[in-house]
Amino acid sequence: MAELVPGARLSAGDGVDPDFFGYRDLLDDDDRKLLAGLREWLETNLAPIVDDYWSRAEFPSQLVASLAELDVMGLSLDLPDRPARSRLLGGFVGLEFARIDASFASFYGVHSGLAMGTIAQCGSDEQRERWLPAMRRLELIGAFGLTEPHGGSDVAGGLETTARRDGDDWVIDGAKRWIGNGTFADLVMVWARDVADDEVKCFVVEKGMPGFTAAKMEGKVALRITQNADLTFDGVRVPEANRLQNANSFHDTNSVLRATRGSVAWSAVGVQTGVFEVAAQYARDREQFGRPIGGFQLIQAHLAGILGNLTASLGMAVRGAQLQDDGVFEDAQGALAKSFCTTRLRESVAWARELMGGNGIVLEYGMARYFNDAEALYSYEGTREINSLIVGRAITGESAFT
Ligand code: FAD
Repeated sequence: MAELVPGARLSAGDGVDPDFFGYRDLLDDDDRKLLAGLREWLETNLAPIVDDYWSRAEFPSQLVASLAELDVMGLSLDLPDRPARSRLLGGFVGLEFARIDASFASFYGVHSGLAMGTIAQCGSDEQRERWLPAMRRLELIGAFGLTEPHGGSDVAGGLETTARRDGDDWVIDGAKRWIGNGTFADLVMVWARDVADDEVKCFVVEKGMPGFTAAKMEGKVALRITQNADLTFDGVRVPEANRLQNANSFHDTNSVLRATRGSVAWSAVGVQTGVFEVAAQYARDREQFGRPIGGFQLIQAHLAGILGNLTASLGMAVRGAQLQDDGVFEDAQGALAKSFCTTRLRESVAWARELMGGNGIVLEYGMARYFNDAEALYSYEGTREINSLIVGRAITGESAFT
């Protein structure tokens, strides 16, 4: 009987390619080379330590300097010191991170998409010059503070953090919850309501500003490597120079989220890629009743189902990225991509975990972390319900939020 190798995954050229319909062929050679370098970096540096860090709920910050050398942060944004590459390439970068670890994909998504994306989209030229090149080099790490203790799904209407103009400064008071990278971020994009005109604006709060504190949220059973924090702002004075000059209402918040919901769809594809590789290899290696379990019809049905979910999700993510590149991506398309792909992820990982029997819930066999992490992807950046309501409004013309 063959020995099981915990955590083994299908190797390239063995069985089928998880990119079953060959979407990577849409990329050029330079793009594919960049992705190959990133994959190698992730397999060499992150994969061997990831379960240990996950079980200790710690972020491997020692990897940040070497990750910076790959120069993949803000890749799809037009930066002061580098023109944008395609959203399609940016999506595949997110896929690569998530294939190894969804928490690291969240680190990338929060820093590169939400935080850098907010500055790129809502900052003045001067603000973009001031922060984006250093964020590209990971010398400054970003976070995105929108959700509040009382404002989750209803954050647009219920945002309680306030900003009051006082001379050349603004004074921020309030609290944020769930903020990824929040414990160590140098810059937090804080969305607060201007008491003068009641509009939601965005302020770059810097680590160490008096009155700003960050406390790690403990006890999470998903994305344990991601450092989510409770942030408090107690009379934090922020100069006008740190108010993003083109963030004037929640409409601007939404335009950032539209793009990043597409990115969560890519994370769901990446995790399903990892899930498929681990499950397919396990089905080949694990023997019961005198033969590999991959020879049983019910196991094959699970594998075919996972590959179908993965392929459908990838197709939607790819087309979404192309629409973004063409500048015609709609809110409802971002919402559908996010909710559909994370729902498929949840189904895929449940099948894969079932296929692995008891080992499906043991960290070292490579599935348990994916299984738990899927729950966070399913809920953040708009739950399935909220994203379905955005799609439902587009279909019917009726808003059913309240
Ligand atoms: P609630 O809004 O309390 O919802 C509870 C349930 O009620 C959900 O099932 C929801 O779908 C349902 N519900 C609510 N309203 C309706 C309705 N009208 N109709 C039907 N059902 C409804 N936020 C940030 O700002 N920055 C971050 O970096 C960040 N990172 C995160 C990381 C993780 C791991 C997680 C879990 C969350 C993160 N979030 C972040 C917050 C995230 O976006 C919210 O958790 C999410 O929007 C849902 O809000 P909630 O958890 O408060 O749930």
